[in-house]
Amino acid sequence: MNRRRRIYEGKAKILYEGPEPGTLIQHFKDDATAFNAKKHAQIDGKGAINNRISEFVFEKLGEIGVPTHFIRRLNMREQLIREVEIIPLEVVVRNVAAGSIAERLGLEEGTQLPRSIIEFYYKNDELSDPMVSEEHITAFGWSSPQEIDEIMSLALRVNDFMVGLFLGVGIRLVDFKIEFGRLWEGDILRIVLADEISPDSCRLWDVETNDKLDKDRFRRDMGNVLEAYQEVARRLGVLNETRPPQGIVPVLVASNPEKGGKSAP
Ligand code: UDP
Repeated sequence: MNRRRRIYEGKAKILYEGPEPGTLIQHFKDDATAFNAKKHAQIDGKGAINNRISEFVFEKLGEIGVPTHFIRRLNMREQLIREVEIIPLEVVVRNVAAGSIAERLGLEEGTQLPRSIIEFYYKNDELSDPMVSEEHITAFGWSSPQEIDEIMSLALRVNDFMVGLFLGVGIRLVDFKIEFGRLWEGDILRIVLADEISPDSCRLWDVETNDKLDKDRFRRDMGNVLEAYQEVARRLGVLNETRPPQGIVPVLVASNPEKGGKSAP
């Protein structure tokens, strides 16, 4: 029986109280929503795939020194994370015109942008996450100028890293949305990457064919949503089936008899 305390339930994830103070369990649901939840469906298996993809990307980002909330995966659908105070901003980084920027500025989808562009949206479902400027953010106290500087510098590092990561597996990173949180470490307040990075929150196009491997397949009723997410996971090498089989690799077990059965130093 699941008797954990539910802290928060969003459209695609649930947060439960974690095993230790300062931790939470992030649970990935199979629900898919778009257009501020006006469109809704269940995509069996999506949660498990997003859990794996997000784990993979957060771990890699951690390895290059980007602070994140990720601690470790717990099971198919859940990961242990650090509890942070979420900054109420959706930070979108764009490399190629698509979605709302294409519409707003009359750009053809697929147009390379002159440089990577960062946008901020105020996280508020009732208002459908309106786009805001740094002026709004600081005037209303959602975040400080210093925090915004840190967020922008982290967002660009995340972008640079992810562009290369995905290009390496034949995928163009068109745009993505990330969120940040505040974490106290002793007396020091750090900004850390939070939430998730998955085909739900990125636009990912096949380099050769421009096939969409992301949530636009759901938004635009293109079909094969799960297959597209699986393809991303497969290319990143995070689908179980594509992992090298464990335990059947030859392992050197024989000891050297001349050294009295002890292994060589
Ligand atoms: N995005 C997201 N959550 C949102 C809004 C956008 O993850 O609530 C992602 C979206 O998947 C895309 C990027 O942010 O990768 C930019 O989205 P856009 O502003 O073009 O909005 P959309 O076309 O999704 O309405």
